[in-house]
Amino acid sequence: MRLTEEQRRAVEARGGVVVVAGAGTGKTRTLVHRYLELIDRGLTPLQLVAVTFTEAAAAELRGRLRGALGEARPELLPELEAAPIGTLHALAARICREHPRAAGVPADFRVLDEVEAALWLREHLPRAIATLPTEIYEALPASFLKKALEALLADPLAAREAFERGPEAMRSALDGVVEDLLEEARQHLAYLRTSEASGKLEELRGLILAAWEEGRDAFLALASAVRLPGGRTRHQEVKERIKAVKALAERAALLRLTPEHERAWAALKRAFHQVYERLEAERFAGRVLDFAGLEVHALRALEDPAVRAYYRQRWRHALVDEHQDTNPVQGRLLERLFGSERLTLVGDPKQSIYGFRRADPRVFARALDGAPERVALSRSFRAHRELVEAVNRVFDGLLEGHAPLTSDREPPHPGPHLEAFVVRTEAPSAARRWAEAREVARRVRRWVEEGLPVWDREAGEVRPARWSDFAVLARAWSVLEGVALALLAEGVPAVLSRGEGLLESREAKDGLALLRFLADPGDDLALVAVLRSPLFAVSDRVLQVHAGGEGPWWRRAQATADPALTRAREVLEELLRLRRREPPSRLLQLADRRTGYTAVLANLPLAERRLADWSGFLELVRGLERGNEDAFTVVRRLRELVAAGVRVERPPLAAGDAVSLMTVHAAKGLEWPVVFLVGLDHRPNRRTPPVRFDPEVGVGLSPGDEDERDGLFHLLDARRREAEAAELRRLLYVGMTRAADRLVVSAAKEAEAFKLLKDRLPEVEGLEPQADDLLPPFPDPPAPAEPGHVLLGAVGSALDALPVTALDDYRLCPRRFYLAHIAGHPGAGDEVALARRVGLVVHEALARGLPHDAERLAVLDPGLSVEALAEAADLVRRFREEEAYARFRAEAEAWEVGLDLELEGLRLAGRADLVGPTWVLDFKTDTEVRPEDHLLQLWAYARGLGKTEAFLAYLRHGRVVRVALQGLEEEARRVARAIRSGVFDPSPSPEVCVACPYRHAELCPEGIHEIGMRNRS
Ligand code: SF4
Repeated sequence: MRLTEEQRRAVEARGGVVVVAGAGTGKTRTLVHRYLELIDRGLTPLQLVAVTFTEAAAAELRGRLRGALGEARPELLPELEAAPIGTLHALAARICREHPRAAGVPADFRVLDEVEAALWLREHLPRAIATLPTEIYEALPASFLKKALEALLADPLAAREAFERGPEAMRSALDGVVEDLLEEARQHLAYLRTSEASGKLEELRGLILAAWEEGRDAFLALASAVRLPGGRTRHQEVKERIKAVKALAERAALLRLTPEHERAWAALKRAFHQVYERLEAERFAGRVLDFAGLEVHALRALEDPAVRAYYRQRWRHALVDEHQDTNPVQGRLLERLFGSERLTLVGDPKQSIYGFRRADPRVFARALDGAPERVALSRSFRAHRELVEAVNRVFDGLLEGHAPLTSDREPPHPGPHLEAFVVRTEAPSAARRWAEAREVARRVRRWVEEGLPVWDREAGEVRPARWSDFAVLARAWSVLEGVALALLAEGVPAVLSRGEGLLESREAKDGLALLRFLADPGDDLALVAVLRSPLFAVSDRVLQVHAGGEGPWWRRAQATADPALTRAREVLEELLRLRRREPPSRLLQLADRRTGYTAVLANLPLAERRLADWSGFLELVRGLERGNEDAFTVVRRLRELVAAGVRVERPPLAAGDAVSLMTVHAAKGLEWPVVFLVGLDHRPNRRTPPVRFDPEVGVGLSPGDEDERDGLFHLLDARRREAEAAELRRLLYVGMTRAADRLVVSAAKEAEAFKLLKDRLPEVEGLEPQADDLLPPFPDPPAPAEPGHVLLGAVGSALDALPVTALDDYRLCPRRFYLAHIAGHPGAGDEVALARRVGLVVHEALARGLPHDAERLAVLDPGLSVEALAEAADLVRRFREEEAYARFRAEAEAWEVGLDLELEGLRLAGRADLVGPTWVLDFKTDTEVRPEDHLLQLWAYARGLGKTEAFLAYLRHGRVVRVALQGLEEEARRVARAIRSGVFDPSPSPEVCVACPYRHAELCPEGIHEIGMRNRS
């Protein structure tokens, strides 16, 4: 397709250019052509920087550039692979790594992701706060201090600059705003001066005018305190004017800074600087940086003229996609690196919806003002002419900077193209929501059954709609769940494909409850939640029976003979026994295996979503375990994430031929022929930090009750509300411009965003639901899913932190690794489970110094048979008595030493059984001596603990085998890279398969085949 005139102007701009690209106007295409144009002008891929805001978008852009360059200049493809194409954070990280001294960071820092950074801060902030002098606590409540500092530290550069505006500057900013308000009041007063009223109204009129003459303070005090008489009056206009004056005076009266405010401000400023410096020192010592820190330090590096010159020489031009999502620090970074002359910025300020990530559309507006050249792309290739015009009408005058789009495409059906409905009933809000959801579901089904014509862009033709042509979008995930159920109940395939809120998912709550119980069996609430969950599905009736018992629930569950609790008790006892040896993610996987949890999920409505959320939760827990394999620590970290309000994304699911449901944020950049934008009456909850700051205005505090807020807080808070209202309008714009052919907006009642739109929509249908529609729908259960398949296909592997044994598992056979560490399969057959339990008892007894007496060891695993316990006791005795182990007994320094190792981007965690001055020792209770199965494990222990020797103690054989460590690092790195590549094909070999815990026909037919071949030969 040829470039439009607008696109061509953007592509051929001489130097820097800012492109305002409306929704669906082909911005990525323009960006790719611009890249090729710059290559044609003699630049190379290594001199061209291309920046987007997410890893996924960066990968997509690289793919598009690869395709285009492959056709135009194939000889440059190898260079493209090394070209700087990525996120702004990656660019900042690169600058920091290449110039650590100028950036003020350690050369080998690690970047914390959002979850890690939140945990890091919650771990270190209280310690930093504890070092503050007592005067600060006297000036500010401790609870305020922590929340305020968290907010300030999320954007430290802006906070620092905002604090540079002292009380004088802040007071003058407030005065300016008060003057504006008084100016407005003056106009009303002019009217009042020339009018008259009667009675109380006339009295108020006189008082206000007199107070105005008296001076500002007297006027503000009196006007904000007036009480207007109720009802309509003959002098209604006078009343309205007095009311307006009162409102203005009320606002102005709040805009003040008292000496108390100033003291609190000074204390917070001091606290911020002191805490920031301390945290910076700790980050430096710990060699970590968060995203905000990356930007700040990269900016610092660029203050050095030599560093700036270096990059200006090396990178000649940058192309930035979605520039409306930049924050002020990123905007400055780009400006400092390239200047406006060497920047191609593409964005749409109307689609800036990431305020919660500090994105600020003013950054784009400023870049536009200073741009050497500006181009607006206004022709939509997405929506047809009538839909474009309908959406133009909605947003014209509603959205700041809205310029109408155009389209040449004819509609594929006669219309209507934009519809709206709202539920009209007195029913409670949950019932209204069901009614809205059912109406959406019916329309989707009807339109597919009727063969609604839609435009197939790829095929270039009109065809009947299928399920995948539909999307349902909402601001909040909770609204989408109801629609998904309604769709399924209507027989419409639907997938909740993307969004945030993993920690609010049912599955994460089940998993967290189980971990809470394992961390503290006295946590009654957690235990009851676990019992009621699909893990055990104990009915409320059974729980009621036991609710009246004495003592903690766990003791009651252990003491009862109620068969309804037997299974739960057995499984929970087993998990409690394992909790010291196994990491929490493994405990969750074992719980799943023992209870069939995921099999239950697979038979519930929205099964794919549930399975993906469970898998996502396991992945999150693995990341949180780090080297510390302890349920208590992981529970604490999970709680901190919830408390910090970290948005943890749910794993995305591909919709296939199904209706996609996702949040508007997740839908950005996507399009469908038919879009439903639902739940417009829903108001998401928001956290409001007790401090507001703006580098151009200052810092405002709200340390306690509303009347303790200072004037700056009132001012900035009012501006925040305006900014949020503007962002809501942009969010609606993003949602509505995802549709290509037909758009429906709906609400369960006339409230919130719906009120904004309703007078601008062509016609709003009032839906009066039937009684049945007000009840939750009950979809049929899905066909049983293939266990494991949905999970892994959907979310990929979770490889953030693995036990060190994983290296050997992968080296021996990638399938074995997969089954053990991704599928979490405990191994086939009772034999494996029994050997494992004996091994655990031996390790535990040795580490805790328990007597080698079968009866005494029963405390570690009361379910083990007498024979198995005797076997374990004998193995313990052997280590303590046999000559082969004498050296290790004599030199032993520490038992069970934890370690954490990073290898090729993989995090490995483990616990060495016994450590001496130069060595590590690992106990083996295996029946066969197979040191070749544990080489990398031992290498990792030695490396992680800085030891030079590694040994295996085979307790059944009275042997110690030394592991030669030389050359193993290279092998370990190779294996780590292979794990990250995500290939888990089986590599059967007779020697390995014969000792593999997964040699079972259902788990690994290849291995069984291999063993069969060996037996035959
Ligand atoms: S049986 Fe063999 S092929 Fe199968 S997982 Fe085990 S080692 Fe791999």
